[in-house]
Amino acid sequence: MEQTLAIKIERLQGQLTELGAVNRAPDGSCRRVALTDADAMGRDLVRSWMRDLGLTIHIDRIGNVIGIRGGQSEGRPVMTGSHVDTVATGGLYDGAYGVLAGLEAIRVLNEVGLKTQRPLAVAFFTNEEGVRFQPDMMGSLVYAGGLSVEEALATKAEDGSVLRDELSRIGYAGTMPCGEIQPHAYVELHIEQGPVLHTAGEALAAVDFLQGISWQKVTITGVSNHAGTTPMRLRHDAGYCAGQIAAFVRALATRMGGAQVGTVGSIQLQPNLVNVIARKAIVTIDLRNTNDGLLAEAEREVRVFLADLARTEGVTIESVRTAQSPSVAFDVHIIETIERSAKRLGYKSIRRMTSGAGHDAQMLARICPTAMIFVPSVDGVSHNPREFTEPVHLAIGANVLLQTLVELANE
Ligand SMILES: [Zn+2]
Repeated sequence: MEQTLAIKIERLQGQLTELGAVNRAPDGSCRRVALTDADAMGRDLVRSWMRDLGLTIHIDRIGNVIGIRGGQSEGRPVMTGSHVDTVATGGLYDGAYGVLAGLEAIRVLNEVGLKTQRPLAVAFFTNEEGVRFQPDMMGSLVYAGGLSVEEALATKAEDGSVLRDELSRIGYAGTMPCGEIQPHAYVELHIEQGPVLHTAGEALAAVDFLQGISWQKVTITGVSNHAGTTPMRLRHDAGYCAGQIAAFVRALATRMGGAQVGTVGSIQLQPNLVNVIARKAIVTIDLRNTNDGLLAEAEREVRVFLADLARTEGVTIESVRTAQSPSVAFDVHIIETIERSAKRLGYKSIRRMTSGAGHDAQMLARICPTAMIFVPSVDGVSHNPREFTEPVHLAIGANVLLQTLVELANE
């Protein structure tokens, strides 16, 4: 029975394109930053598709949306999903692919009238990207009990807006307690967002591990002064310190080698003028490693460096942690179910791989058996309007998801 099930790629592509068209920029970027009007429009569209499929829709207090398809018996649903928010320069597939492939799987089951034992659920989680409000993966983190809903609702954006107000404003302040629907299992389908599968010419992977992530925001306060008249030895230059930090993070990751990566992705200077020594700099640091011990060591080295820099440059440096999630080993049973599903579809042995990016699945793994499916990203490009996955790979991933959901819901 299950072998004959197949998704229709035109429908999936059609919905990806339609969702991607919401607030699309002239350069092709998808711009549905969490809790903006564009995010609301995207959410409304996906919710209308959930309604069309006859799903029972729940919205929880942090704005996560969960559509349920009843099973032959009640009980915990097998859940799939991802996110529909994007970065400001996002592509068509990051997040949206997992959610819309989940809906396509439901559509196929509706058409053939196949009712699984357990209910099925398709969810999209609030603020996965963490662009405006931090931490990222916030909706799933709250869902899994890793952050209190009150604390999350009180989060402030750089622009001063409060998450609670924005959630109400866009109409997604739901009433269901977060995490009330406990999944039997969670499977997330996502584009790889890296070059591994594309380079190897492979169509699919089961994700068995996700690396640990540490974010901090560093504020350096120095002294503003004239760029022409202030002798070099008398400067307390926040801009110079920001540059030193960026160079240190790069050198640290290179020196540690292995799986360590480090990025300074944002530097804001004040007053940010050509002839004025910067009074203040705000620098972000993103550190990741598959080994939590090594990641902690990288954090420690940064701490020591910042303390030394503050002393030698006569500036104040304060650091606030904005996100931290340890590495996650996904569930072997779910991984094997993905592998069996791939095999049924003719993919004899698929790669198991580690995710370099954070995903909602890492939060769900705290409360139920969880794993992920990756499909290739052409040239590994993501968070970019050039993000692209071949339709044939979109179809394979969605079909493996469909098979996996049915098997898990009937076990
Ligand atoms: Zn994503």
